[in-house]
Amino acid sequence: MNKITMIGTGHGFVHELYNTCFVVNDKFLVDAGGGADIVKNLKLAGIKLTDIHDVFISHTHTDHLLGLFWLLKILTGMYKDGIYTGKFNIYCNDEVAVAIKDIYKHLYPDVYVDLIGIYVNIVVVDDGDELAINNQKYKFVDLKASKNKLYGFETTFDNGKTLVFLGDETLNTKLYDLIKNKDYVMHEAFCLDADKEIFKPYEKKHSTVKYTCENLKGLNIKNLILYHTEDTHSNDKDILYKKEARKYFDNNVIVPKDLDVIEIN
Ligand SMILES: [Zn+2]
Repeated sequence: MNKITMIGTGHGFVHELYNTCFVVNDKFLVDAGGGADIVKNLKLAGIKLTDIHDVFISHTHTDHLLGLFWLLKILTGMYKDGIYTGKFNIYCNDEVAVAIKDIYKHLYPDVYVDLIGIYVNIVVVDDGDELAINNQKYKFVDLKASKNKLYGFETTFDNGKTLVFLGDETLNTKLYDLIKNKDYVMHEAFCLDADKEIFKPYEKKHSTVKYTCENLKGLNIKNLILYHTEDTHSNDKDILYKKEARKYFDNNVIVPKDLDVIEIN
């Protein structure tokens, strides 16, 4: 069964949720959130750290990148003890690669820095590059974001279902062809329309549920996954967000909570 396990679903200012990141088929981590809970939530999701050999980091913001350093901290200890073996591949754009190399040297003792130089492999991807990760092809896309360089990807699972991951900024309208007719599209929704004065999504280049659904309505997306949300509705987020989405979007909408599993079928 193909699946996505949501390790976190919150945006960059949450504390009740973990920041948005997920794992494809128990092996490929996409973004790392911003804190040490990356390790706890992977374990709670039943994902073994020893199975994670590939991670994609979409951009350099705290809520997507900093969790990587907590992960590297535990993995490097495991590598040192012979528990974690093989390479750890980090796929990212050039801006993210520079940031990772700059930061990690300041964070760990020398022995860890030396080990990271051996087992970690940073793979810089450009717009349109295609790579096979766990026998599945991923095409990386520059999302032409207004802030830091933000990359996403499109992929097709072995059952033929297509998925597009769009990072955490409202999709540039010039890229709508990328998501037309896709089976699963992952797009941010910062908050409900009723809460826009509280959370002010637009000044952060984010959207409400209403805005996202209205804009993507005519693109024949079969399943729209909304994530990267505020955390004040964490218990009934799925009910409230879906209720708003249904007014503007005809096809299926998925609003996951942390640790939810989305079956790709
Ligand atoms: Zn974010």
